Amino acid sequence: METVDTPKERNFIQHIMDEHKESGRFNNKVHTRFPPEPNGFLHIGHAKSICLNFGMAAENHGLCNLRFDDTNPGKESQEYVDSIKDDVAWLGFDWEDRLYFASDYFETFYQMAVKLIHLGKAYVCSLSADETRELRGTLTESGQNSPYRDRSVQENLQLFADMRAGKHEEGTHILRAKIDMSSGNINLRDPALYRIRKIAHHRAGDSWNIYPMYDFAHPLEDSIEGITHSICTLEFEDHRPFYDWLIETLELESHPQQIEFARLNLSYTVMSKRKLLELVDEKLVDGWDDPRLPTISGLRRRGYTPAAIKDFCARIGVAKDYSVVDIKLLEHCVREDLNQNSLRAMAVLDPLKVVVDNYPEDQVEFLEATNNPLDESAGKREIPFAKVLYIEKSDFLEDAPKKFFRLSLGREVRFAHAYYMTCTRVKKDSAGNVIELGVEYDPATRGGWIPGRKVKGTVHWVSAEHAVKSEVRLYEPLFISENPDKAKDGQTFKENINLNSKNVTDVWVEPALAQATPEEKFQFMRTGYFCADRKDHKTNKPVFNRIVALKDSFKL
Ligand code: ATP
Ligand code: MG
Repeated sequence: METVDTPKERNFIQHIMDEHKESGRFNNKVHTRFPPEPNGFLHIGHAKSICLNFGMAAENHGLCNLRFDDTNPGKESQEYVDSIKDDVAWLGFDWEDRLYFASDYFETFYQMAVKLIHLGKAYVCSLSADETRELRGTLTESGQNSPYRDRSVQENLQLFADMRAGKHEEGTHILRAKIDMSSGNINLRDPALYRIRKIAHHRAGDSWNIYPMYDFAHPLEDSIEGITHSICTLEFEDHRPFYDWLIETLELESHPQQIEFARLNLSYTVMSKRKLLELVDEKLVDGWDDPRLPTISGLRRRGYTPAAIKDFCARIGVAKDYSVVDIKLLEHCVREDLNQNSLRAMAVLDPLKVVVDNYPEDQVEFLEATNNPLDESAGKREIPFAKVLYIEKSDFLEDAPKKFFRLSLGREVRFAHAYYMTCTRVKKDSAGNVIELGVEYDPATRGGWIPGRKVKGTVHWVSAEHAVKSEVRLYEPLFISENPDKAKDGQTFKENINLNSKNVTDVWVEPALAQATPEEKFQFMRTGYFCADRKDHKTNKPVFNRIVALKDSFKL
């Protein structure tokens, strides 16, 4: 499969970069960053941002940093930092020696805030949160100045130092930029720069009693690191004037260009970290890497490959308009990859016993099968064949219509890689359910492909004696509605959870599959793509997750 790390077509961000190259604004350099906040696991939307930032840097012979935006200690943790690093590396992106943390810049941020106070561009405001809100105004009404706006530089410096030293309680003071309370852009109405939070930081320890606001910290982080293009999602468009104001006011040497793009939305799932956290905390799913979640670790556990995820990100491209991408496109991408690159195997999910009546009682033979018809290098394997087999219940119909190309009385079908078989006998229990079939094999058809002798259908099978009973986890979308966020009145997105999204059952697999390594992927003939579970698969207790069914109904 051809995989692409970056959108093939020149997107609008590339045009902006090209313009900068022409004008010489960044001396021909491209330096981007992926800036996650470590307050949850990454999801497929972040993958879009990762592919974009690392991909565009690579395409332009530039660099991309991995930077943790860890300015909000209440919600952040080292566990999240570790998971994010794992996910980015697993996707195949390398930040080399460019791993940064906003928390390493806390002292610099503080000095920048002090500089703003000296410049008369920041002040300590002692209004309550409610009072601040009231004076902020609305979209149509201008705001009003805080009564603390004209505090002297000296007084501000002292108060700010005291805030840092822990002499004031949370909520009593904030540091604000002094810009324009009548601005049409609410983000310029003296936005908060620092607030008091008496809480330890997972990296900085308990040395700080104040923490910078995201809007203050982010431009500074970008500028300190010499970022040229600060790519973010559209909701930050209105924050760009403050981004620029801050860098200009501080007269920083490096002034990155903020560029906004539309975030990825995917049907049948939720993507906000707050909602994902709710699902995890309330144990509505089995942790952050639950294979039903759109988290990168969930997709990984399900059996998605980095190539499939990157291909998906390349196909959706990057634009400025809001859109919702059909989850089927993601499924299509993993099928494309696994069709080329996964091993074939036979597994029976819902077994019906088949006795080959004319086959010797104790004989076992080993039949050869190609591991991947699309990739010779995948080699061959041997599958044990014996008198008693299992096929899928759904592959037999007693009174079959003409178009039923599977097994029924008197008809001949191919048992894949084995023989042509004719069904001659049906055994039922007292309730009339079919419990066993008798078939006759044709010894002349060994291997299952006889030129000139057509059979209408092929079924898959396993040898009852040799097959390994394994656990299989069949997944459906986690939500029943296309847009779970749009819940009915008075309900939350959780009302839309699909209670049938996980079905655990048994499957009988070829014996070789017990030796599968965790995360190894297979195409189970005629049933779908499966992955040996990353955590639970053991040789003595194999566990497979269904990644996706075989059928691809997506039209490109
Ligand atoms: P959420 O809103 O889900 O909590 P976030 O945007 O706050 O996510 P961050 O950790 O701040 O999460 O995101 C890191 C980067 O990933 C940011 O640059 C953000 O714009 C980008 N990003 C987050 N969600 C998406 C998405 N759905 N599509 C594209 N990019 C995204
Ligand atoms: Mg964010």
